[in-house]
Amino acid sequence: MAVYKGFEPVIGLEVHAQLFTESKMFCGCKSEYGAEANTLTCPVCLALPGALPVLNKKAVEFAMRMIAAVGGKVHRRSVFARKNYFYPDLPKGYQISQFDKPIGEGGAIEYHSGNGSRKRCRLTRIHLEEDAGKSLHPEHGEGFTRVDLNRCGTPLIEIVSEPEMESPEEAYGYLTKLKQILQYIEVCSGDMEKGHLRCDANVSVRPVGSEKLGTRTELKNMNSFKGVERALKFEIVRQIDLIKAGGKVEQMTLLWDEKKQVAEPMRSKEESHDYRYFPEPDLVNLVIGDAWIESVRLSLPEMPDVRADRFVSQYDLRTYDAAVLTDSRALADYYEQVMTHFDDARAASNWIQTELLALLKDNKQELHDCLVSPEMLGELLSKVKSGDISGKMAKTVFEAMFATGKAPDVIIKEKGLVQVSDESSLIPIIEKVIAAYPDNVAKYRGGKAKLFGFFVGQVMKETDGQANPQTVNKLLKERLDG
Ligand SMILES: [Zn+2]
Repeated sequence: MAVYKGFEPVIGLEVHAQLFTESKMFCGCKSEYGAEANTLTCPVCLALPGALPVLNKKAVEFAMRMIAAVGGKVHRRSVFARKNYFYPDLPKGYQISQFDKPIGEGGAIEYHSGNGSRKRCRLTRIHLEEDAGKSLHPEHGEGFTRVDLNRCGTPLIEIVSEPEMESPEEAYGYLTKLKQILQYIEVCSGDMEKGHLRCDANVSVRPVGSEKLGTRTELKNMNSFKGVERALKFEIVRQIDLIKAGGKVEQMTLLWDEKKQVAEPMRSKEESHDYRYFPEPDLVNLVIGDAWIESVRLSLPEMPDVRADRFVSQYDLRTYDAAVLTDSRALADYYEQVMTHFDDARAASNWIQTELLALLKDNKQELHDCLVSPEMLGELLSKVKSGDISGKMAKTVFEAMFATGKAPDVIIKEKGLVQVSDESSLIPIIEKVIAAYPDNVAKYRGGKAKLFGFFVGQVMKETDGQANPQTVNKLLKERLDG
């Protein structure tokens, strides 16, 4: 537990995840990021008089996937509610959300706490709601604020945790895991820059050992997980300093300013009764049958931690490597496909982590853009293992495969990269090198062991780097030491 000057923080997170359905939550408009402003709207999401909402079944299914993925309970009956507030980007004057009867309750996220141990944070609830539009403020304080209603009515789930996290680092670990789960079950891109994932944090402090929760404040406007961590650190210190100076923490909402690295008060925090929630009269209760819940549960993929544990036992990988390889579902799938064409699990793991991930990063590419298929990589690694090519050559071949998408055989042939392991062709070269440097041979035999590398280098030079180094070492030793 992190201790700050005799106080301990208590943190809860509210995460909004935009569901990647094709259409919006209550109308047929496309749900798409980056389209021209106000081109994806209709009478329903513009709240024109008489327009009525129709619920998107896919959004419900996506919410159910998330609830099942975290071990929560899908309620057989849930109710949509109006959350009333005014905002320029909310044409209806209310948001359709869920209040006292959400679609999901309970469950937990298991995450890495930052100090190497795994922790568990329970979830209070997961509910469905629609998003508001976006206000586009002028960058330099001049001109008008404009409104884009394309986002109005896109489906969200809000995932509310219990206040069980004890440090900003834990909050970071929780968010990282939450995003990974959302991506694994393919309901949300997890892209914070595009606003597909947004996080508000509640935080309070209390003297170490105290059971009673302090007054909490809410932090908004963080646009990265690291930003959440920094905002929490700032706010925890602010609250503690305030209490130590004899002041009292007041319940309010603060906006994090990433540039200034400070959280500034925005408004006193609304209570839920300020929103005048009431059941949405334009929608019937959402009733979900057991068969649907069961089929959603069965459709879930293997979850990241389970998969990482399986990688450790099935492929005999280190825990760290298994975690890297299962970081995304696509990478884990890639690895397992390579393993259907190759039989050295650790070699494949190393190659993917060092060579493949580095090239992807250098070229700012995602795995799905990669021209090297798992089958091709399996083939290449088999050639290294059998000694047909050296590890060094393989890197050259791999870079060419990555750039061109050509098969390893084709590139090896094009570049003439064949490793010579055959002793009968190496022996004459080695004998030639030994004969050419009698002085060095004498020095080596006289105890200058370092000179061995010199002979290896000469042989490699003679063979344009194509000699198998292991074979060269062996043959040289036989001749120089023998
Ligand atoms: Zn619409």
